[in-house]
Amino acid sequence: MATISENIQQLRARMALACEQASRPVHSVTLLVVTKTFPAEDVRAAFEAGETRFGENYVQEGVDKIAALADLRSQVQWHMIGPLQSNKTRVVAEQFDWVHSVDRLKIAQRLSDQRPEHLPPLQICLQVNISGEASKSGLTPAEVPDVARAVVALPRLHLRGLMAIPEPAQTLEERRQPHRALAGLMQQLQAEGLALDTLSMGMSADLEAAIQEGSTMVRVGSAIFGQRQRPAAALPQV
Ligand SMILES: *Cc1c(COP(=O)(O)O)cnc(C)c1O
Repeated sequence: MATISENIQQLRARMALACEQASRPVHSVTLLVVTKTFPAEDVRAAFEAGETRFGENYVQEGVDKIAALADLRSQVQWHMIGPLQSNKTRVVAEQFDWVHSVDRLKIAQRLSDQRPEHLPPLQICLQVNISGEASKSGLTPAEVPDVARAVVALPRLHLRGLMAIPEPAQTLEERRQPHRALAGLMQQLQAEGLALDTLSMGMSADLEAAIQEGSTMVRVGSAIFGQRQRPAAALPQV
């Protein structure tokens, strides 16, 4: 079985090829290593292979891993990418660097109110339900401009961009379509004057399509750590 370090090397090559095919510089896409369900030792192995950005879906699991890897805290970023309830915002505001899954203004307001003064602003992406699935969390595209303007006005947040988890699709062209729609939405916000720089899109199965359409941050778990073992009932809606 390949090691985590070998998988990361392979993934970097895959991202570089996708950038080349999209005529984009390799450094225009960053890797967020998604560590949900995997133990702190695996995160440490990814760190030792040179990775410094880690994504978690569950607040308690993330907080436990941040504590287990406290010695690395100043050298790494922790990103919350999973569904966030209002009773969990405080610990996220206190412990994480980024939140990609803001899907309501109320959550953003709480995160801003609860972000400690001694920390830099919390970096935010708005999650968009770009495939229009009834079961998925995320703002509808039509809701995004108003929420984005309101989030920009919150003092302890820094709105960076948009995030989506498109439906799985068979062909490359089908995979590209929702990523293109998210990129278009971000361009619309930029044209209105919002200074956004992050398109959080692309996972193990669709990162080529996402990079083709302008992703600046791919979120990758299973291509690095292998299949997740946790029972399906405990998995988020991905
Ligand atoms: C689990 C997850 C990922 C990573 O998915 P893989 O298919 O394992 O690469 C990315 N983004 C979110 C929001 C996730 O929940």
